[in-house]
Amino acid sequence: MAEEIKKELLSRKTIALVAHDNKKKDLIEWAKYNRDSLANHTILATGTTGILLEKTLDIKIEKLQSGPLGGDQQIGAMISQSEIDLLIFFWDPLEAQPHDPDVKALLRIAVVWNIPIACNRASADFIFSSPLMTSEYTRLVPDYENYRKRRIATEENSNE
Ligand code: PGA
Repeated sequence: MAEEIKKELLSRKTIALVAHDNKKKDLIEWAKYNRDSLANHTILATGTTGILLEKTLDIKIEKLQSGPLGGDQQIGAMISQSEIDLLIFFWDPLEAQPHDPDVKALLRIAVVWNIPIACNRASADFIFSSPLMTSEYTRLVPDYENYRKRRIATEENSNE
């Protein structure tokens, strides 16, 4: 069992927001309700979600590429570099997306790095009402050292 390492999260967190088209209304309503809490954190979002949120909330939002153009992958890369503390991702369970593999990859990488994820309003409400949102928190980050060092059979080591 891999040992776990700890990542200290400050009370100001970096939060990524993403919503598929049929879920943007939901996310905007949720974000409006939580506007003042969101303003205390660093917010980034996929392109279209970010434009809508910035207009509605009047908060500075770092806008990445639109999801289908690579935005989900950008967020995934940032998670793997420990640059994101929380993912709010309202994905659409009733409609296939052109970037379905990216959606799956983003959800997967958030689990790999033990990042809290909210995929609907109820989960987002529970996370946002947690006292951990406004305090420091030590997140356990799985230590993948054994995985990195795993032995792969190659011609060079096949005779050892
Ligand atoms: P969008 O991307 O915010 O640019 O619409 C969201 C997504 O579909 O991942």
